[in-house]
Amino acid sequence: MRDDEFMRIALETAWNGVKQGEAPFGACLVKEGRVVVRVHNVARRSWDITAHAEVQAIRDACRMLKTLDLSDTVLYATCEPCPMCFSASVWASFPGSCTEPGSRMPSGWASGRFRSTRPV
Ligand SMILES: [Zn+2]
Repeated sequence: MRDDEFMRIALETAWNGVKQGEAPFGACLVKEGRVVVRVHNVARRSWDITAHAEVQAIRDACRMLKTLDLSDTVLYATCEPCPMCFSASVWASFPGSCTEPGSRMPSGWASGRFRSTRPV
């Protein structure tokens, strides 16, 4: 699958969250071309302000893959990361994360395209 196909999965997942009353954010974590995790924000449902899609994806992937090092995966997210999700992505050692096809988070950070969001 291509970047845009994984992004579509993240977008569809975000839409599923919207239908459940959550903020419109989704994420899809991929390893070796296969989707490992697809999640959306669950902050409202879980009364957990940290339950953003990206953090949920990292938590679930670490548990499923039994590792704290996700450097061999790619995280596709439906928006630029908030500071918390950006930090979690750094701790997870992602080589790059897509917020849109062709965009990689580290360059986004360096170019100043990073922006804070308040998704709940
Ligand atoms: Zn976030």
